[in-house]
Amino acid sequence: MQKIKIQTSATQKAKPTSAGELGFGKLFTDHMLVMDYAPGQGWGDIHVMPYAPFAMDPGCIVLHYAQTIFEGLKCYRRADGALQLFRPRDNFTRMNVSARRMCMPEIDVELVLEALKALLQLDGDWVPSWPGTSLYIRPTMIGTDTSLSVQASGAYRFFIILSPSGPYYASGLAPVNIYVEDEYVRAVVGGVGFAKTGGNYAASVLAGRVAAEKGFAQVLWLDGKENRYVEEIGAMNMFFLMREGLVTPPLNGSILGGITRDSIMALAAGMGHPVIERRLAIDEVFDAAERGDVLEAFGTGTAAVVSPVGVLRWGDRQVTLSGGRIGVLTQRLYDTLTGIQLGRLPDTHGWVEVV
Ligand SMILES: *Cc1c(COP(=O)(O)O)cnc(C)c1O
Repeated sequence: MQKIKIQTSATQKAKPTSAGELGFGKLFTDHMLVMDYAPGQGWGDIHVMPYAPFAMDPGCIVLHYAQTIFEGLKCYRRADGALQLFRPRDNFTRMNVSARRMCMPEIDVELVLEALKALLQLDGDWVPSWPGTSLYIRPTMIGTDTSLSVQASGAYRFFIILSPSGPYYASGLAPVNIYVEDEYVRAVVGGVGFAKTGGNYAASVLAGRVAAEKGFAQVLWLDGKENRYVEEIGAMNMFFLMREGLVTPPLNGSILGGITRDSIMALAAGMGHPVIERRLAIDEVFDAAERGDVLEAFGTGTAAVVSPVGVLRWGDRQVTLSGGRIGVLTQRLYDTLTGIQLGRLPDTHGWVEVV
């Protein structure tokens, strides 16, 4: 039987005193959660313990061959002060999907969730309450064998760290400019695009840098085979409100199945916009946008929740959507989903988990 063992930190770091100090993923709380896996023994006890660096052998498998997976979810402070998580079981279940693809051991979703709650109870004072802020939760698993041979590790470490995070948009929801990437690809069918694994992100930073130099906030990836079909943006899934309805690319194996994507699909359907999952060619998007037939477009992900697209650039074609403003449906979906996450609106789908 695995146990949850708690060791509290003797010291406390200074907590941020304004939302402006937060940013994303820069500050970490006083505690972390660590669980090790040994071959033949499985997962050991879960340690909730003081936040501290790991000592690693330079020959550690994850440092060379990237056998690593992660998750991202948030803990929100409600107006009444209580803390709540949004669909945490879906994150740990998805982590097991990533684990299977990367030859890593699966975790016990309920036990890890229970331990996460114990960690959050210790570091609850770190959950900020300024508008648009939350505590970002980063579960991670790495292969820890010391070995330079290319194979699955025998030993693993699973850990969770917590980072208070600021509002994604400094001044409220705002449209972002997106660069359609037509040279580099993020993932291919048969690869690891559907898994939240480090290499996907390492492979994406060059395109992100080139787009940033041209003045764009994010890259929109096309499929890796024909360089034609819309996949997703950075760490967000894509939706287009077209004349036929709200359209999103299907989960074909190279796209990450976002929990925000799934939530938006349920909310949109409830608002009379059942989502059409179909392949969407980028030339079709531009042709429709030039005719005025793309009414709104937005990305969805845990960090930004909903991110409206302002300008879309593809080669030398450029379109501005919704007149560069936030679309009506986009705003409504954002307000509804953040309302549920913050406990301001009723949780009619059973998504919320009080800590
Ligand atoms: C995490 C992620 C998303 C969004 O997933 P959510 O569960 O909604 O946060 C989308 N695309 C990629 C590549 C991601 O890593």
